[in-house]
Amino acid sequence: MADSSPSLGITILGSGSRGNALVIQAPDGAVLLDAGFSARELDDRLAQTGVEPTALRGVIVSHEHADHVRGLRVFAERYGLPVFANRGTATVLKKRDERLGRLCLFAAGNPFAVGPFTVHPFSIPHDASDPVAFVLQAHGRRIGVATDLGHVNHLVEHQLRGCDALVIESNHDLGMLGNSTRPWALKQRILGRHGHLSNEACVALLQRVVDARTRHVVMAHTSEECNRYELVAQMAIDCLASLGRTDIAAHIARQDEPLPTFWV
Ligand SMILES: [Zn+2]
Ligand SMILES: [Zn+2]
Repeated sequence: MADSSPSLGITILGSGSRGNALVIQAPDGAVLLDAGFSARELDDRLAQTGVEPTALRGVIVSHEHADHVRGLRVFAERYGLPVFANRGTATVLKKRDERLGRLCLFAAGNPFAVGPFTVHPFSIPHDASDPVAFVLQAHGRRIGVATDLGHVNHLVEHQLRGCDALVIESNHDLGMLGNSTRPWALKQRILGRHGHLSNEACVALLQRVVDARTRHVVMAHTSEECNRYELVAQMAIDCLASLGRTDIAAHIARQDEPLPTFWV
């Protein structure tokens, strides 16, 4: 790929059912996608990865579950950042906390701009109030981020094609979830059409959306009880090998520590 446009940096600050946040940065600005750790924890993880909070131009929210918004208000307020959410998410957040600061509403299907990025939000099936996933574009690069989805539909597949990097949910191993001591109702919720994506479903999605442009995949939102990072890593390696793609780097997002920034 011989072009001179600047690279985009992707920094997974952490991912899993106890908190999700990632930064996408360009030379002319960065965005925080979800703020599912406390503001202090977000600060710590930004410092660990060498990302300057002052580079941020806004916080973009996928949905209102606590593991995506825990530090949202305090963090946004601390750095004077606008919060981008759709009406369904914003309504729930406002009900929870009136003090949510500068709010910029978007609608699924309508692209909007944050700093140097054009953000394409699209609806995903999940048990929240109008949850979305995103494709972010800047400097000729496309990055797809889709976690917290119960199943994959044509819209999701369509949106995630043609991305240089993909961050996709690989939540649970079906066998481990079945054998876990979790209550039946919770298992049904996770497995349901509006729950979370299994390892198997993640691999099936990758097989359909990885294309000539893809150089990085991140397996994210991995369950600590019903999955193992080693298992997810092996599945990613096997999947990419089956596609004959030794040129794609696979990353496994962690709950307790950020991943070093990689560039696309
Ligand atoms: Zn989540
Ligand atoms: Zn969720």
